[in-house]
Amino acid sequence: MEGALTARDRVGIQDFVLLDTHTSETAFLGNLKKRFSEDLIYTYIGTLLVSVNPYKELDIYSKKQMDIYMGVNFFELPPHIYALADNAYHTMMTEANNHFILISGESGAGKTEASKKILQYYAVSCPSTTLLDSVRDRMLVSNPVLEAFGNAKTLKNDNSSRFGKYMDIQFDIQGDAVGGHILSYLLEKSRVVHQNHGERNFHIFYQLVEGGEEDLLHQLGLESNCQYYSYLVQDECANVTSINDKNDWKTVRNALSVIDFDESDIQHLFGIIASVLHLGNVQFEADSKGYATLNKNTELRWVSTLLGINVQVLQEGLTYRKIEAKTDEVLSPFTVDHAIYARNALAKAIYGRTFTWLVNKINDSMENKEPSRKTVIGLLDIYGFEVFYVNSFEQFCINYCNEKLQQLFIQLTLKSEQEEYEAEGIGWEPVQFFNNKIICDLVEEKHRGIISVLDEECLRPGEATDFTFLEKLEEKMGSHPHFITHKLSDKKIRKTLDRGDFRLLHYAGEVTYGVVGFIDKNNDMLYRNIKDVMRQSKNAIVRECFASTESDSRRRPETVASQFKSSLLGLTDILMSKEPWYVRCLKSNESKQPGRFDDVLVRHQVKYLGLMEHLRVRRAGFAYRRRYELFLQRYKPLCPATWPHWRGVAAEGVEVLVQHLGYLPDEYKMGRTKIFIRHPRTLFATEDAFEVC
Ligand code: ADP
Ligand code: MG
Repeated sequence: MEGALTARDRVGIQDFVLLDTHTSETAFLGNLKKRFSEDLIYTYIGTLLVSVNPYKELDIYSKKQMDIYMGVNFFELPPHIYALADNAYHTMMTEANNHFILISGESGAGKTEASKKILQYYAVSCPSTTLLDSVRDRMLVSNPVLEAFGNAKTLKNDNSSRFGKYMDIQFDIQGDAVGGHILSYLLEKSRVVHQNHGERNFHIFYQLVEGGEEDLLHQLGLESNCQYYSYLVQDECANVTSINDKNDWKTVRNALSVIDFDESDIQHLFGIIASVLHLGNVQFEADSKGYATLNKNTELRWVSTLLGINVQVLQEGLTYRKIEAKTDEVLSPFTVDHAIYARNALAKAIYGRTFTWLVNKINDSMENKEPSRKTVIGLLDIYGFEVFYVNSFEQFCINYCNEKLQQLFIQLTLKSEQEEYEAEGIGWEPVQFFNNKIICDLVEEKHRGIISVLDEECLRPGEATDFTFLEKLEEKMGSHPHFITHKLSDKKIRKTLDRGDFRLLHYAGEVTYGVVGFIDKNNDMLYRNIKDVMRQSKNAIVRECFASTESDSRRRPETVASQFKSSLLGLTDILMSKEPWYVRCLKSNESKQPGRFDDVLVRHQVKYLGLMEHLRVRRAGFAYRRRYELFLQRYKPLCPATWPHWRGVAAEGVEVLVQHLGYLPDEYKMGRTKIFIRHPRTLFATEDAFEVC
């Protein structure tokens, strides 16, 4: 297989652990850059894969490439996402245990692309039977569907994931990919009704309006022009050159038939998308008393038709709130602002619940009902750390999630390293990490963290505001080293903060959050009477989405942040029970330009992702370790006593071999099952000798 390597593939060092003599950040970056300039976007740190976004199509993802990587030893070929996927797969098969691949990096760094490449690798390369092809096809096409409904153009990424996704790929005992299951995390629903400057709503809206067939649009009462819909044109950003909504529509439409969607599902689904667009165009006017009325209700009629709800009932639901007094119910009319608020809340709720329904539907279609034993490889692709000019509740949740994943990474890398030395009976000096636990605690600690303070304020309706929330934070967090506000900072920093801001010093950098909207978004309230209205819907999906018993319950529903916090805890548990693999994605430049490597930007990511520390841990202990059998198998030609056969215990053979090679006692340690080599150069020399021989 060595033949597959060309001179170009060897530019720079393929594995940072082998980066000889020094481990400075400059050398690290120099190596990344040198390789990047040759389109070598992948480099290892041991078994961790670093990937730098090339922003251009590379010819390295063909079926032929997949074949090259099948079953080949990790370090024998140029680093590749397929090598990692393959290695995880083979380890799963030999050890019969569960694995996960954690793909991390900031928004636009290439996580989603990486996860798609891994999924493709498994779908294409694993053994196949025709029976299973349909499950596999469904796994593959679930991607464009979920991306249509859950991704959007942001300033960071034209195809930014606005939900978190964890997907288990299930393999049977023969190693066939036989099923899949997706868990989705916190969709950014607010995008349905509002987008920041330069951003778009979810792709599906544009795909439908731009790509939908004439009679479909006619049925849905839609104009084939995005400009017509207020939810789509807030920022006049409907057209983006990198996105072809018309083509994407065809892909999605096609994918829906591959997954088990029947015609009525599809009709109901598009009915919902259209009804959200119509809802956005529903306008209210104030009557003589200042209450909201609807004078032109064409749009509302469309909503009523598409959702199968009586128009009067719907209108009442949007302009009144039912208040339950002790014995009877009173209808309280909305002001215009209030009505707009209720309308937007409904649009968000319909969209968000439909998204959940969609994920469930996809799961049903990928489900493998065979009771046989299965092992899984989980793929985690979650929204990356993001900092905009204006950051709100959504960024707060997204960045909190990234803190949690970083924490998991720290725990697992330290833990596994420590455990390995312990298991092998080898002493070592731990390397100092920046531990971001302090920031996780700041956000999530019971009774004291930011989420707790926010939830408490959300319990005081009518009294609490976003600003009282900020004051409470200032009282509680006061001197926390990772928390500042205008009031708490000194003169120089104060200039950079508004009175309504708080700033967190995240592991990945500072982010300033504007508090406006926190309380509202965390409450995510939908009035009970509008929920009741939705339950009367003749649209089967809507009815199902609102059918739960929640609206009967008098208990206060969990807040958005608390729900998110517990789902992240659940995710951590899922991951902790599996063997980890890591892909760290780096963004090469901010302007999405092909082939540009921005030194400052990359350096910053290398720093905060803890790549240098990771490398140091790998090197401080023992840079390389190999099972005695494998080591002996590879290098036995170097010593007459071991060549061609060593007839004895492998460990003893290795001892004889390294003595012969002149390893100094300090350079290696013999563990229980493996030899540990301290410096890469020792291995280098052996490798060189091997190549000469
Ligand atoms: P993330 O999920 O980390 O936010 P994406 O995976 O969506 O980022 O990548 C953003 C964009 O970068 C993609 O739409 C694509 O244009 C480009 N990109 C990412 N990875 C690759 C790759 N391996 N090869 C070519 N282009 C890529
Ligand atoms: Mg993504």
